[in-house]
Amino acid sequence: MKEECIFCKIVKKEAPAEIIYEDDKILGFMDLNPKAPVHFLLIPKRHIPTLLNLKVEDTFLIGHIITTGVEIAKKLSIAQSGFRIISNCNEDAGQTVFHIHFHFMGGRFFSWPPG
Ligand code: 5GP
Ligand code: ZN
Repeated sequence: MKEECIFCKIVKKEAPAEIIYEDDKILGFMDLNPKAPVHFLLIPKRHIPTLLNLKVEDTFLIGHIITTGVEIAKKLSIAQSGFRIISNCNEDAGQTVFHIHFHFMGGRFFSWPPG
């Protein structure tokens, strides 16, 4: 864990967040500045700065994040109309928090391709 990382602080309950899911490996919480009517994040509890730092042994972890997020999307009623999963990697993609996270967004129409 990195002391200055905001998502590590949320994991350690040292910073507030609207937590919607937690188990021993991952945490889900609502985005502070939502870009859609429903916008939550799922993160590994372990500090991993970018997708480039993933190792083959993290395959289950990432799959667990996706399948868990899909179940939450169903519960939050954004699944049938459609939702989007995004993970930004590094500057050009717009990554601002360097602790990997998957955005789950729904409740509105999303254009394609993204800007
Ligand atoms: P990125 O730009 O790295 O893909 O996404 C970072 C996301 O984290 C943004 O959507 C931003 O609103 C969200 N975020 C940043 N700081 C906090 C925080 O302290 N709490 C919560 N809940 N979300 C945050
Ligand atoms: Zn972190």
